[in-house]
Amino acid sequence: MDRASDYESEGQRFAEGVDPAERLTMDGKHWDEHWMGLALEEAARAAQAGEVPVGAVVVLDGRLLAGGHNASIAHHDPTAHAEIVALRAAAQEAGNYRLTGATLYATIEPCAMCCGAALHARIARLVYGADDAKAGAVRSLHRLLDDPRLNHRVEVTAGVRAEECGARLSDFFRAKRPGGGSP
Ligand SMILES: [Zn+2]
Repeated sequence: MDRASDYESEGQRFAEGVDPAERLTMDGKHWDEHWMGLALEEAARAAQAGEVPVGAVVVLDGRLLAGGHNASIAHHDPTAHAEIVALRAAAQEAGNYRLTGATLYATIEPCAMCCGAALHARIARLVYGADDAKAGAVRSLHRLLDDPRLNHRVEVTAGVRAEECGARLSDFFRAKRPGGGSP
């Protein structure tokens, strides 16, 4: 993936940017908001590219493994959702198709496909921003991540920086409508 190398350097920059001592004193909520900020940056990149602005990052042991944003139009790929792009790059980075113990941050509630990928990757936690009433498969349309019939469960934290995450999406669609900007 051509962006993997970009990400590697960004990941290192980020890992260096967070003081380990500060990391220890950050509580879980601030920690999640912090990483969601990177997912929001990914969403902004998607918007710049004319893609639906959803972003995702994968974090393992306090380190950014990889990130990604929607790229379905550019890649002619219906599966190129932010979460899939990020999980693929993270698995490459980890050298393992299992991302045991990892946390996936996504700006919007993942769809059925992305929840499926998260389960296959065995991620420990999903943190997302805004609910997706139309396609969300965590709690809006389906509850795939806590289905007792599956052999893996993902811990979920929803609503992290939800307003910003949702606004990124609604601003994008508003601007695309004829007469863009006016309600
Ligand atoms: Zn998806």
